[in-house]
Amino acid sequence: MGATSNKKIIWTVRDILKWTSEYLRRKGCDSPRLDAELLLTHALGVDRLRLFLDFDRPLSDKEREKYRELVKRRASREPVALITGKKEFWSLEIMVNPGVLIPRPETEILVQVVLDQCKTLTNCSVLEIGCGSGAVFCAIASDRSDIDLYACDISLCALSCASINASINPNPNCAHIFASDLLESVRSGPIFDIIFSNPPYVPSSIIDSLEPEIRQFEPYCALNGGDDGLATIRRLIPQSRNCLKPNGNLLLEIGDEQSDEVERLLKLNDFSEIRAYPDLSGKIRVLKAVL
Ligand code: GLN
Repeated sequence: MGATSNKKIIWTVRDILKWTSEYLRRKGCDSPRLDAELLLTHALGVDRLRLFLDFDRPLSDKEREKYRELVKRRASREPVALITGKKEFWSLEIMVNPGVLIPRPETEILVQVVLDQCKTLTNCSVLEIGCGSGAVFCAIASDRSDIDLYACDISLCALSCASINASINPNPNCAHIFASDLLESVRSGPIFDIIFSNPPYVPSSIIDSLEPEIRQFEPYCALNGGDDGLATIRRLIPQSRNCLKPNGNLLLEIGDEQSDEVERLLKLNDFSEIRAYPDLSGKIRVLKAVL
């Protein structure tokens, strides 16, 4: 495909992106062109704007060799974020590794709802349960540096990733990060104004039918919500009630068609004023409840 010179094929940025997009599409990747661009920017150590400005730039053998290795990994359906080690979330660059869930765009709804809730509060104390990579609390901290933020996770791998992300945040001391299985390590009492979480909520039986990017490469413990997907949420709601101030808010990201049952569990645990926030496709993604 590339132009020939002295019988050697010269591959330009344009040629190689076209070829790779087609190849990744055949391998079942659902955003092959974007993936090809992200992998090439990573291989060349440039940003996407530079890539577009240099469309006719020829690639050296060494650059192509490096790129080929990345494309091979993507063709086996490893997520781009795990190949490059980073994912953009809330316009921040979040470091990720195989021990944490890759931040999803839908989870920006949770960030927005927490920030909206914080608007009316000064000196507010906010806890994230199961912070994973730390993407959500880092996003919140990047908008509001005055919040007293706490974040916990049961996974040591996640805690170290969250600490790294906090340290490269515009506000590096943005959160007190600690190890805890949900709120087991937190004493009961009116401590927090807001507790929020994106807990594991995928029913065990459907994990095997998810895309290979998820089922083969993302941590099972960050996805698995037990038989009906609600096993973690069932423990989390009463524990949160015991650590919220009166009128405190609990905000939860939830899965498809879980809102009715989660709403019932919230009411059973003395929460009221329940509000649902849909994503762009109209599915309820976040529930907010007041104690
Ligand atoms: N949203 C993720 C998915 O659909 C699941 C995240 C979670 O369980 N918290 O794969």
